[in-house]
Amino acid sequence: MQKGAIRVQTENIFPIIKKFLYSDHEIFIRELVSNAVDATQKLKTLAGVGEFKDELGTLEVTVKLDKEKKTLTISDNGVGMTAEEVDKYINQVAFSGAEEFLKKYKGQNEGANIIGHFGLGFYSSFMVSDQVEIFTRSWRPDAQAVRWECDGSPEYQLEETTKEKRGTDIVLHINEESEEFLDENRIRNILEKFCKFLPVPIQFEDKQI
Ligand code: ADP
Ligand code: MG
Repeated sequence: MQKGAIRVQTENIFPIIKKFLYSDHEIFIRELVSNAVDATQKLKTLAGVGEFKDELGTLEVTVKLDKEKKTLTISDNGVGMTAEEVDKYINQVAFSGAEEFLKKYKGQNEGANIIGHFGLGFYSSFMVSDQVEIFTRSWRPDAQAVRWECDGSPEYQLEETTKEKRGTDIVLHINEESEEFLDENRIRNILEKFCKFLPVPIQFEDKQI
C-alpha cells in the first residue's frame, strides 16, 4: 500500500474545476470514454509493431450503472497501467498556472475545451463524484494489477489488487448533487451525443451505442 499526495501546483485543483466548469458537468463522460478508447488504440498500435503478442480479442469500452451502489463504471480492455504509470500519469498532475487560466476563461462557456487542453480529462470525474477508484492491469506479461482511490482531496491511495483481465475500470461514486448521472436515459443521451463514430464499440447496459 502506498499513500501520497497528488502533486498539483495549486493547493487543490478540484474546487477550481467544480467552480469554473459548473455548466459542463456531463463532459466527464466524454473525457473518460476517450481515455478508454485511447487505451484500446494504444494496444492496437503495440500489437501492430509486434510488442504485444497476445490475443487482442474484441477491443471495446463498456459503461455500467449500479443504482444501488450509486456508481458509474467505465471499463476498457486496452493497455491498462502499471503502478509506475498510475503514479506518472494520474498522480503527477503538472498544472502550472491553473487558477489564472481558469479565471481568464470563466464565463466563456469553454469549459469542455479547457479541461481537455490541460490534460485534466481524468480529473473531470471529480465534478460528479465523491470518490473515484481505478482498477487497472497493464498489458505487460505478469503485470500486477493496482487499485487507486481518491476522494477529491489531493490525498490518494495506491495498492495492489487482483484483476484477471488487462485494461482499466474507472469507478465513479456519484455524489448527491449529481444523481442525474445515475439515470439510464440521461447517460444514454450523453453517450449518443459525445460517443458516436469512435473506433471501438461502446457498450451501455448490454446494448451498443
Ligand atoms: P490526457 O488524456 O489528455 O493525457 P487525462 O487526464 O484524460 O489526460 O489522462 C491522463 C493519462 O492517464 C492518459 O494520458 C493516460 O496515460 C492515463 N489514462 C487515463 N485513463 C486511462 C485508461 N482508461 N487506460 C490507460 N491509461 C489511462
Ligand atoms: Mg484524456
